[in-house]
Amino acid sequence: MAHARAFLCLILIFWATKPANAWDYERHRLINGLALKSLPKEFPRFVLLPTNLERVKFLAGEPDRWRNTRDRGLRHLNNPDHYFDVEYLELYHIKTETLSHFRYRFVEQMANARSKLKLELPEANADHIKNYPGFLPWSINEHYLKLLSAFSYLKVFEEMGTQQEIKNAQANVIYRMGILSHFVGDTSQPLHTTKHFNGWTGDNPNDYTTRRSFHSWIDGKFFINTQPPNEVKLQKQLRPAKLLIRPESKELASGHFQASLNYILKQHELVVPLYQLDKDGHLSEDSPDKGRLFLEKQLLVGAQMLGDLWFTAWKEAPPDRFLQGYLAKRKLNNK
Ligand SMILES: [Zn+2]
Repeated sequence: MAHARAFLCLILIFWATKPANAWDYERHRLINGLALKSLPKEFPRFVLLPTNLERVKFLAGEPDRWRNTRDRGLRHLNNPDHYFDVEYLELYHIKTETLSHFRYRFVEQMANARSKLKLELPEANADHIKNYPGFLPWSINEHYLKLLSAFSYLKVFEEMGTQQEIKNAQANVIYRMGILSHFVGDTSQPLHTTKHFNGWTGDNPNDYTTRRSFHSWIDGKFFINTQPPNEVKLQKQLRPAKLLIRPESKELASGHFQASLNYILKQHELVVPLYQLDKDGHLSEDSPDKGRLFLEKQLLVGAQMLGDLWFTAWKEAPPDRFLQGYLAKRKLNNK
């Protein structure tokens, strides 16, 4: 028991020092720029107007701006949406196969495990987010569903609304695309999927780095100190955005939770290779080529998933039936 407690304390120390960002703002902007390029010709044209392109890129940094606040209520709500430290599920005896796609069901799963396993909450827990692996898969899916809703009502306003309403609905689509983009981008930085988010923790048989600056090095300092990613080269490697397929199971039917989770787990598999690259000196200023290849690929992976989610939301969005009824009535009453 004492051993378990010591383990928990150790975990909590690391949780307490979670770094503030994933990719830096420039890398998030780049992911969004690439994702926009992946959109097929039939995608709504207003999105590609220069002011909207810039706004989608600007919004890439928005959920990290929320993290800048010292307000504990907002930190409590927002911070865990940016990561999913897969290993911590073990602490709760929860498997990825049994995660509910409903956020609060997952909270219940953790609460039940906490009381059954007698896991104690830490005393220093100002934001009340310690002990959570994070909510990244739910965050991506929920923001996807909000974007889907924005497309649903835009489609109806375009048929039956005023010019003002169409403009407002379009502005909301842009906003929703931008907010979703951040969390999809975060995921492609593998350190957002692991308890080793800021240097290796615990047993370290492979002698991986424990540098506390490792996270920020990957976020952007590597690129800043060597050279920025080659955007033109990355654009050439893009495939067009494609429709995401939903699993048959009704249990997994809400939005694209499963695709989001699979995407996260895939990036989690890259945590060890990333640390190995660092150990072998390939993430250094002297010999950056292999590290660059790895990280540029991650920027591309993030951009493709983002383009796929944007494209799928637009394709899947059904017309908003409630709004249709409301606007039909309004038309009758105005006659
Ligand atoms: Zn973030």
